[in-house]
Amino acid sequence: MSQSVDCLIVGAGFAGAVIAERLAHAGKRCLVVERRAQIGGNAHDGIDPAGVLIHSYGPHYFRTNSEAVVDYLSRFTEWHPVEYKILSWTDGRYWPFPINLNTFEALIGRPSTSEEMEAALAQWRVPCKRPAHSEELILSQVGRELYEKFFKNYTRKQWKCEPRELDPSVCGRISVRTNRDDRYLSEKFQALPLHGYTRLFERLLDHPNIELRLQTDYREVAGRMRFKQMVYTGPIDAFYDERFGPLPYRSLRFEPETLPCEFFQPAVQVNYPNDFDFTRIVELKHATGQQLPVTTIIREYPADYGPGREPYYPVPNPASRELYGRYAAVAAQEKKVSFVGRLATYEYLNMDQVVQRALAEAERLLS
Ligand code: FAD
Ligand code: UDP
Repeated sequence: MSQSVDCLIVGAGFAGAVIAERLAHAGKRCLVVERRAQIGGNAHDGIDPAGVLIHSYGPHYFRTNSEAVVDYLSRFTEWHPVEYKILSWTDGRYWPFPINLNTFEALIGRPSTSEEMEAALAQWRVPCKRPAHSEELILSQVGRELYEKFFKNYTRKQWKCEPRELDPSVCGRISVRTNRDDRYLSEKFQALPLHGYTRLFERLLDHPNIELRLQTDYREVAGRMRFKQMVYTGPIDAFYDERFGPLPYRSLRFEPETLPCEFFQPAVQVNYPNDFDFTRIVELKHATGQQLPVTTIIREYPADYGPGREPYYPVPNPASRELYGRYAAVAAQEKKVSFVGRLATYEYLNMDQVVQRALAEAERLLS
């Protein structure tokens, strides 16, 4: 192993891989260490024993409004355009979701118009100028009936707390529309890497100035080598041995099942707000367009974070923000360490946002 590098990069997810690529391209020697046996962080994907392409750590729907991010990633992948459409299962039937004019028609049981839906929502909304939490936000958008049907119990199940204990930004990720746009996401660019995320990461990391070590915790190497800079993309509280106390995270358990049929469900994702212990079932074949006589579905069960579990989600609320602030204040004093990505900055970031942050940090380090 190299004894001396310009940059030690902890984590081979989007944050680590993009910074490694940028620094290597500029002539800097980088060692990327990754605790897991694979690259890609939570965006890792792979072919399962039945030959189906699956997302190993939950569905990763790439979407962005940033042309710069698309331009950059397009150097490493072609794209398979997808409009992700999902359904919600409740009251014994499928509902178009997120809430849109089709959902409204299903609710009232007859054809309708945007005007009628807007008038109904105006009646149902619980006005709130500045929603302080996720319950107020959804009540202010669609009122109590739709909140209880689609949001209240899904959110309790996923986060093991009340929606009023979470920032408005959590449920605010979901659009509400009064037209027939029934796509899950609203960004202008929506696509999957044509040959998968793992191939994209292989290409990002394929550079003579990058050395990659899998199944390696940075603590095993950091004391035994010289580096000018470290980029850390793991959980920030772990970096500081939880000196101010552990930050809260939510974890998940993924339960895959292969079935001898072409498709199991009518959409790439079905959400289960009110029935079952899982929150959603994902059948990625709908999005990848893979032609196979068999299919694989993955049921996603929320789980407490603890030994043997991954910290998939930071928990956005005022208390965790305050605790994170204490870590961030110490981190800001570090001259030799940058903290980048979803876990290192304790933010509920999407992939494109992480790529954007990583590009900016690489530029800062090089300037
Ligand atoms: P990560 O991908 O978490 O990578 C960090 C890496 O650091 C990990 O591989 C970890 O093993 C490694 N590491 C940590 N500590 C150490 C250590 N001590 N030593 C060595 N290595 C270490 N985003 C979207 O845009 N669209 C989606 O549809 C979407 N769906 C998601 C679904 C789920 C279930 C989850 C959990 C996330 C989803 N995301 C989605 C978010 C997306 O996963 C993240 O934005 C992105 O992967 C974050 O990249 P990152 O590099 O910051 O972190
Ligand atoms: N949510 C909900 N009902 C749904 C889908 C989402 O209440 O059918 C809430 C829930 O709190 C969830 C959040 O909205 O955690 C964000 O949903 P998203 O699908 O963006 O979650 P992610 O893909 O990040 O897990």
